[in-house]
Amino acid sequence: MKNAYLNGVLEQVKKRNPGEPEFIQAVTEVLESLEPVIEKHPEYMEKGVIDEIVEPERIIKFRVPWVDDQGKVQVNRGFRIQFNSAIGPYKGGLRFHPSVYEGIIKFLGFEQIFKNSLTGLPIGGGKGGSDFDPKGKSDAEVMRFCQSFMTELSKHIGADTDVPAGDIGVGGREIGYLFGQYKRLRNEFTGVLTGKGIPYGGSLARTEATGYGLCYFTDAMLKDHGDSFKGKTVVISGSGNVAIYANQKATQLGAKVVAMSDSNGYVYDANGIDLAAVKQIKEVRRGRIKEYIQDHPKAEYHEGCSGIWTIPCDVALPCATQNEINEESAKALVKNGVKAVAEGANMPSTPEAIHVFQSAGILFAPAKASNAGGVATSALEMSQNSMRYSWTFEEVDGKLHDIMVNIYKNASQAAKEYGMEGNLVAGANIAGFLKVANAMLAHGVV
Ligand code: NDP
Repeated sequence: MKNAYLNGVLEQVKKRNPGEPEFIQAVTEVLESLEPVIEKHPEYMEKGVIDEIVEPERIIKFRVPWVDDQGKVQVNRGFRIQFNSAIGPYKGGLRFHPSVYEGIIKFLGFEQIFKNSLTGLPIGGGKGGSDFDPKGKSDAEVMRFCQSFMTELSKHIGADTDVPAGDIGVGGREIGYLFGQYKRLRNEFTGVLTGKGIPYGGSLARTEATGYGLCYFTDAMLKDHGDSFKGKTVVISGSGNVAIYANQKATQLGAKVVAMSDSNGYVYDANGIDLAAVKQIKEVRRGRIKEYIQDHPKAEYHEGCSGIWTIPCDVALPCATQNEINEESAKALVKNGVKAVAEGANMPSTPEAIHVFQSAGILFAPAKASNAGGVATSALEMSQNSMRYSWTFEEVDGKLHDIMVNIYKNASQAAKEYGMEGNLVAGANIAGFLKVANAMLAHGVV
């Protein structure tokens, strides 16, 4: 970065957040994109908006004790980072995964500010989670953990304050237990969480939203370049919520998905992945992707995650986790002729990988923009809860589609306006930033 002021902000962030490389990575990318904005609008610098935006409004960190099936006390750590409420109540998922620590939640919360702003809906940025691993736990253990987690979290959230949702390791089952405990503790039935089950206030199409939204965004990007999903070969990493519904929509739009993965390895099926089988393994049995080859003898299973990026494809949709595509994987994708890469997971490409894609002229959709469909539909769930009313699947899906196309247009337009045409990373950061920054300016120093 050439701008001395932005470099100073970054140095301060590094000093204040030692040992948190993911957060530094996310902040660096945003600050780099803001260089031309500061030149045009020095008021964001002069009024301290950028110094404020990199500092969470509030960090809540707590003990989560629970009793396992053997009667032994287990202690996990819980987090909620309320990062920015300039344009609405804090909104962002909860992640339950052993890799969770403060730096991961901070990076996700920071990204969420800009993503939520891009949706055009009134939601601030937040994120939370725990180093609890739901894998291999019984339903009763997951329930006891969720109840303990919510016992503390309930003191800090509310339908007009902070509305958490799911993320890695937090699906319908976990949201149900968390909601049940909140309702019991507070004796109120409000839309305090999103991703709820349909019988108790969930929105139709929320389960599908992130994966579908990713494909709507990718489709808009391809169409803007005279192309489409039709006849494309697609590789999708992960086999969780985002990956499954990205597969479903890409297939509906005429593509063939040939590979999916989990944290142990990946399956390659030249005939196209049998999504019903993946759903059965992952959603019903909570099994491993490896089990796919038991009923699909022509498919291949390979141990390890990064090999999936060596499979030739037209479109790559990383939908597993952060930094899953490094420089080497990006080079392999480019060498094999990839045309578009769109991020379903949060920050799945390293900065070096993004550089490889952009230098090769590959269409690249950054997570903040392309995976915003989940949180956008969560905001639609909040609206329905406030109205005590529910829309049909088609209504929600239609709104999601329009939101994703608008995000593409806005990011693309902002990139052009600031002299970086085609650079959606910069465009998304700038478009997301401007709305939040203007709200912060209006609020004064608070
Ligand atoms: P799930 O828990 O449903 O699925 C996660 C998938 O990624 C699983 O297949 C998991 O495999 C795999 N995975 C997790 N960690 C790793 C790892 N370290 N290496 C390789 N694979 C891994 O989560 P979601 O689908 O909800 O989330 C996936 C990504 O999308 C995350 O980055 C999340 O932040 C992002 N996202 C999710 C949204 C949502 O609405 N759900 C919204 C916006 C973004 P395994 O089963 O082996 O752990």
